[in-house]
Amino acid sequence: MRIRAAVLASTGGPVEVGDVELAPPGPGEVLVRLAASGVCHSDLNAVDGTAETRCPAVLGHEGAGIVEAVGEGVGRVAAGDHVALSWMPSCGRCEECVRDLPHLCTVAWEAMDHGGLMDGTPRLSQGGAPVYHYVFVSTFAEATVVPERCVIPIPKDAPLEIAALVGCAVSTGVGAVWRTAQVRPGDRVAVFGCGGVGLSAVLGARAVGAEPIVAVDVSQAKLDAARELGATLAVPWAASPEETGEAVRAATGGGLDFAFEATGREQAMLAAFLSTRRRGAAVLIGIPRSDAIIPLPARTVARMERRILGSFYGSIRPGRDFAQILSLHASGRLPLERLISHRVPLERAPDALELVRTGAALRAVLTMEAPG
Ligand SMILES: [Zn+2]
Ligand SMILES: [Zn+2]
Repeated sequence: MRIRAAVLASTGGPVEVGDVELAPPGPGEVLVRLAASGVCHSDLNAVDGTAETRCPAVLGHEGAGIVEAVGEGVGRVAAGDHVALSWMPSCGRCEECVRDLPHLCTVAWEAMDHGGLMDGTPRLSQGGAPVYHYVFVSTFAEATVVPERCVIPIPKDAPLEIAALVGCAVSTGVGAVWRTAQVRPGDRVAVFGCGGVGLSAVLGARAVGAEPIVAVDVSQAKLDAARELGATLAVPWAASPEETGEAVRAATGGGLDFAFEATGREQAMLAAFLSTRRRGAAVLIGIPRSDAIIPLPARTVARMERRILGSFYGSIRPGRDFAQILSLHASGRLPLERLISHRVPLERAPDALELVRTGAALRAVLTMEAPG
């Protein structure tokens, strides 16, 4: 079938919306008609080469829609089912999956790099030449073919634009709070970097009764947004990690139980660590450059039992957590709709990427429905 999709021709090149051929789903694959896709910083990292992806590629990894067809042997979903997409299709058999760490599946991770589906080949093409999938799901498109394990059934009354965000930013931010850190009521937390992931962490922290919830950012607009979503204090980024850490400790009566870092910048990671109290932990969510090093005051690790926790995809189980997050949204306890600052038609995908690049968007969502 022929679809409209946003294609990155080469790393560093422009993103252009054009016609792309999409092959039918093979065995164990699912064709999804997309309704919405969030635009994530990782998409920008693929465009500018911070995290290189195989090109040409259809970008986007945060989508939801309705199943249109299924390949041979697919039992998890059927045509007409509403689904959110997970970009981490765990294999269920590798050592990490068997250790109950499916979000760290090594088989899916290796397959991801080839730009194909689980068999290594793409279903996308242009003029007979292959076009590659971005982390399996390629959601900047009217439709996509994905491995069965990427489709997570959701209730039919869940808004698809919210479900799209649950596929990456929301699960990453909320999951870091609930699953990686297991924050308890009354825990003191801060979120460094208040974009889509950081603000999701703020919402997750509010939902479990963390207090205080400190927002830290260089942008006053982002701090204001975090306050509106439930942060109880705002601390502007100071001149250095040391001064920022000191300001957070002073504002919280001695430091944090959990400092969530969502920017991927070493300076912010260090500030997060320095803002913790005894037995506190810096929870590192943001993906840094491959050569990044964080210099830590080592003595305080042992003396204060300070910790560093890594958090990838919020340590979530999509099959369990997507539905739970959407249920809490439906009951009003997780107001995820407030993350969406811009809705942009697919045809204007480059404009949506620009909104993310400039920091103007909390979360920009691409909408696929034909206008009118
Ligand atoms: Zn993402
Ligand atoms: Zn696995």
